[in-house]
Amino acid sequence: MKLRFAPSPTGFLHVGGARTAIFNLLHARRHGGRMLLRIEDTDVERSRQHHAEQIVNSLQWLGIGWDEGPLYQSDRLEMYRERAEELVAAGKAYHCYCTVEELEADRVAAERAGKAYRYSGKCRALSDAEIEARADMQHVVRFKVEPGPVEFHDLIRGNVHFEADLIDDFVLLRSDGYPTYHLSVVVDDIEMNVTIVARGDDHLSNTPKHILLFRAFRADVPTFAHLPLILGSDKKRLSKRTGATSAEEYRDIGILPEALFNFLMLLGWAPGGDREIISRAEAAEAFDLSDVNKAPAVFDVEKLLWMNGQYMMRMTADELYPVLAPFLGPDAPALDALRGVIELNKSRARTLKDLAEVMRPFLVADDGLEYESEAVKKHLKGDDLAERMRDLQSALASAQPFDVVSTEKALRALAESRGLSAGKYIHPLRLALTGRGASPPIFDVAVALGRQRTLARLQQLIDRLSSLTA
Ligand code: GLU
Repeated sequence: MKLRFAPSPTGFLHVGGARTAIFNLLHARRHGGRMLLRIEDTDVERSRQHHAEQIVNSLQWLGIGWDEGPLYQSDRLEMYRERAEELVAAGKAYHCYCTVEELEADRVAAERAGKAYRYSGKCRALSDAEIEARADMQHVVRFKVEPGPVEFHDLIRGNVHFEADLIDDFVLLRSDGYPTYHLSVVVDDIEMNVTIVARGDDHLSNTPKHILLFRAFRADVPTFAHLPLILGSDKKRLSKRTGATSAEEYRDIGILPEALFNFLMLLGWAPGGDREIISRAEAAEAFDLSDVNKAPAVFDVEKLLWMNGQYMMRMTADELYPVLAPFLGPDAPALDALRGVIELNKSRARTLKDLAEVMRPFLVADDGLEYESEAVKKHLKGDDLAERMRDLQSALASAQPFDVVSTEKALRALAESRGLSAGKYIHPLRLALTGRGASPPIFDVAVALGRQRTLARLQQLIDRLSSLTA
């Protein structure tokens, strides 16, 4: 068994393409098949080498491996030409000399007559003499479509039936010698012994053409699986309107590859039960293309964010640090200094970028901490504030050891001895330590910062009070 992922490098790796790659990979792994990566870069107008590299990088980032490739179709142009001429020689294809102008005129005429345009077949039956006379003319190679039914069993859609009568003699080779997609994809699937073609639903109408070509080449027709569309939250075809569409954009906001992989594999497939967090290895033991849903899947960004949060929560600080580091910036402290801070904050964010953001108060220098103005307005109140903060400083200076239990005890004992609520100390303390009105449990914050920085930040607050409350 061999499957393949065959992206055209005309842009970033689309999340729909990534899902196609994942389904191919999982099916191959489940059944001990091989996975091929083929870059379909014969469209010179639209293909770019850097897109091919980006796609390869994104696949690697996502953990989508392959056993063969990447093979580039642009390295194989000569072979497509030969195979096209082979069909001409066998009378299964022919040279077509119609000019763009002629074809356009036919199209306009069909439109005027209110008919669907079809290629006239003009060049199908040229005599040898007529062909001879045109030897110097530019031409394309067209496939001779013979009428009759084209049927196949699709792993997802079941039995599919087309009538070849409705298919025009399609082009295999352009006048510039480049193959069309139909030719190169079939030649390669034959050459590379692909046995299962799993690709997007948008290719369904191409499949009868491909089957005719496989037959013309006297090759085995592979099994097909056409994957349902992915819709955006607006129930329209997934597009930029409702969010990012490339794997790279999700990487850049700090989505983990494991989470994106998990999310994408559930677009049209479920392992059974209500389980949603499922690893690649588990999926590779359960997946089968024939279990994929026929109905379109909806790409729910909120669910992806939730899932990413779940993955982050389950990772240790040591696992998170290397992937988080790029979001922390070049001056980020080393892992040893951040282990506690990461543990404290990891369940408070849904992306690595957000996690870096909620960790920011812990990363800045004590005198670089900025206060949110809302929180200042709300919590820096009362003539006795400076006094409260000085008392708190000395209470925390002598809390022994400096852990969550004894810092909390020190604060509460102080509040009680002054006849005040603990909140009168806790809220300004939170502002002093984080600059914010919300944070992880405040005594955890103090401990993560350590005694020295906690006291220094309280001193900052006291020093800033006159300017802040003026
Ligand atoms: N290169 C095609 C695409 O990117 C896929 C071809 C195929 O899977 O047959 O849409």
